[in-house]
Amino acid sequence: MSPMNENRSTASGGADATKQALAWSHTARFYTTAAQLNQLPAHDLAEIAFVGRSNAGKSTAINTLAQRRQLAFASKTPGRTQHINLFSVGPKDAPDAIWADLPGYGYAAVTRSAKLRWQQVMADYLAVRRNLAVVVQMVDSRHGLTDLDKQLLSFVAPRVANGAVKLLVILTKADKLNRKESDQILRQTQDQLAEMATDESDIQIALFSALKKQGVGEVADILRTWTQNCRPLAFPDEILNQPEAEDLDGSDEAPPLPAP
Ligand code: GDP
Repeated sequence: MSPMNENRSTASGGADATKQALAWSHTARFYTTAAQLNQLPAHDLAEIAFVGRSNAGKSTAINTLAQRRQLAFASKTPGRTQHINLFSVGPKDAPDAIWADLPGYGYAAVTRSAKLRWQQVMADYLAVRRNLAVVVQMVDSRHGLTDLDKQLLSFVAPRVANGAVKLLVILTKADKLNRKESDQILRQTQDQLAEMATDESDIQIALFSALKKQGVGEVADILRTWTQNCRPLAFPDEILNQPEAEDLDGSDEAPPLPAP
């Protein structure tokens, strides 16, 4: 685990904390899905958004964190699951966070207009969603941050810089690297993210392997610690009342939303 700024909050650490964090992430359950931003429910919980290029290993990492086989849908056709899927986390009667699985980006076979539309939805979500407290960006450890990853980060960079949103970059599929390569990509990513770091920012990097179960406890611990440190949001999300991106599936009606 690699904090970018030693002064900021890091994971609480320790075997007990990791166990509790894994118990916490295991509570993740499906809440609702939204085809556009104005379908996202109003709630007062912190949202942890998972983003990444198609095929970066995002669904696998979410399932591994939750210790569930099919929580996040690993699409056979990358780029097809173009919804924001929400999961609630914490006690059943009093969830304490929402995980938001954002559509994977950069899949070559998606049409240019579909790409642009989703880029806009993600840019809007990352730039203005009030509940957004943490962005978890999944990056294939063999490739490191791509231009597209950096572009996506730029949408949320101002909120990371002022500390409103914390950033965790997960270097996935770490089992494919040897020790030297792991050290190298960690350093390189650290250098790139240092450009975003300020006195207020909270940025961490984790090597992760779903296959080897590497980094799972640490990531759960960071997310739980950050969730606990979030200030509760007192007001409904103003996004609900904003006109947003056009409806993708052609239906005008937002689906009824269950309680988190
Ligand atoms: P997504 O499109 O980002 O949701 O990516 P997926 O979770 O569907 O994973 C893409 C591919 O990477 C799949 O073939 C996975 O089996 C593989 N993969 C995911 N995580 C790991 C990992 O930790 N190690 C290895 N070796 N492969 C992985």
